[in-house]
Amino acid sequence: MKTKLIYIILAFLFFSPGLLSGQVISPSVEKFLDLEKNQYFADRDSAYTDPVYGLKKLIYGNRRFAEDKSINPRQTDQDLQNTEAGQAPFAIIIGCADSRVPNEIIFDQGVGDLFITRTAGQVMAEASFGTIEYAVEVLKTRLIVVLGHQSCGAVDAAMKLPANPPGHVVTLINSIKPASLRAKAQNLPDKEALDFAIKENVIEQVKMLRGLEPVLSRKFDREDVLIVGAVYDLHTGYVNFIEETITSLPGYSEKLASN
Ligand SMILES: [Zn+2]
Repeated sequence: MKTKLIYIILAFLFFSPGLLSGQVISPSVEKFLDLEKNQYFADRDSAYTDPVYGLKKLIYGNRRFAEDKSINPRQTDQDLQNTEAGQAPFAIIIGCADSRVPNEIIFDQGVGDLFITRTAGQVMAEASFGTIEYAVEVLKTRLIVVLGHQSCGAVDAAMKLPANPPGHVVTLINSIKPASLRAKAQNLPDKEALDFAIKENVIEQVKMLRGLEPVLSRKFDREDVLIVGAVYDLHTGYVNFIEETITSLPGYSEKLASN
């Protein structure tokens, strides 16, 4: 009986990397990003010029937040003055409007660091595309992160498909519907089905941006911009980047081999 219990505990720990390390990152992605254990800081200028390094900076910043080590960088009066003349954000975040996902706080970044568009379910339309293209073309930002989150109300609504959604909410639901239908086809319990749909929705949005003409598709293929997806865990405070949105990056294998 005791042995059986030990096996159950071991299996539980083994199959729940999130419970052991908090941040869920596979060894190959860790190698690709050149992530170091117990490292919390990355350089601001390098993050702006190199999007892979920028991703590392976001991961380290989020690690500070989730582990109660936030430093609230670049938020002093002096920082405001320094950015008055212009901005050079190192990442574009396309996130959900949910009040529990404040981007600068969860990534522990400051003024001038993140260029953000937020709508429920991070659903995008022409205005968001123009916003992202502006940051890429004019501000020369090279890292784009689509950020979904656990318990997303918009995705939940798309799963439940209410009969008469109010006003323009139907637009949001229709946009998330393909992901919710794929989640339903899995025949999972409600909570798992919602988690599946949340992840699928992000993957779908990443694919859409990677193929978006005329600016992003070309920049992505040329590796001028990096477009990845992540899901924020409301419980642990960690942002978990979706592995397949990283392993599918052009140049992934080459960079992995050289690291
Ligand atoms: Zn949401």
